[in-house]
Amino acid sequence: MTEPLASGQAFAQMLGVQAALLGGGGPIMQRIGDFRLGKRSTRAAFSGDLYDFEPSLASATPGDIGLSAPAKVLRALWNAMKLLDTIVPGLLHPSTIMYYPEIKLYANRPAFMDTYFRAREHLYLIGDGAGTSRGITAAWASGLRAADRILEDR
Ligand SMILES: Cc1cc2nc3c(=O)[nH]c(=O)nc-3n(C[C@H](O)[C@H](O)[C@H](O)COP(=O)(O)OP(=O)(O)OC[C@H]3O[C@@H](n4cnc5c(N)ncnc54)[C@H](O)[C@@H]3O)c2cc1C
Repeated sequence: MTEPLASGQAFAQMLGVQAALLGGGGPIMQRIGDFRLGKRSTRAAFSGDLYDFEPSLASATPGDIGLSAPAKVLRALWNAMKLLDTIVPGLLHPSTIMYYPEIKLYANRPAFMDTYFRAREHLYLIGDGAGTSRGITAAWASGLRAADRILEDR
């Protein structure tokens, strides 16, 4: 059996580098209409009067997300968007803008004194910035847990 040459994290970094190369150092943006047709979005697709809203991240590079990610990732992305469109109707309108990639780094690994995220006496490190969470639910849950301990101190 062969072993993969790169770990999951290294693979994610390679995807990021590939996207950065294609985006000229910035994220890539593409209209869903173009994405569905396998067509690169051009600057004109964001400045013309075809669609009536401006990109929220105008500095992103118009391009083809289909060239930046493996087919397996693109298929999963497309399936997820189709499902999302059933609860957020209109999401798949051709004018919707997709941005790629989303790169998340959580490098902090604080040493805690206890399970209340206490790093020092009276110092609690919670949420994403502290490296304690990686999403909304864990962020608020870490805050609640620290609050429980803070209340005990009073
Ligand atoms: C594009 C994107 C998509 C995401 N999608 C999801 C998702 O689908 N599901 C999910 O669970 N999570 C998602 N997340 C992650 C989620 O948003 C975070 O995990 C969560 O918001 C972290 O909460 P937090 O309170 O730790 O930090 P934040 O929400 O970042 O809050 C930190 C706050 O501190 C403020 N601040 C920073 N520095 C200072 C300072 N010096 N003084 C005072 N205030 C300061 C900031 O302005 C900010 O308001 C997404 C994040 C991004 C960026």
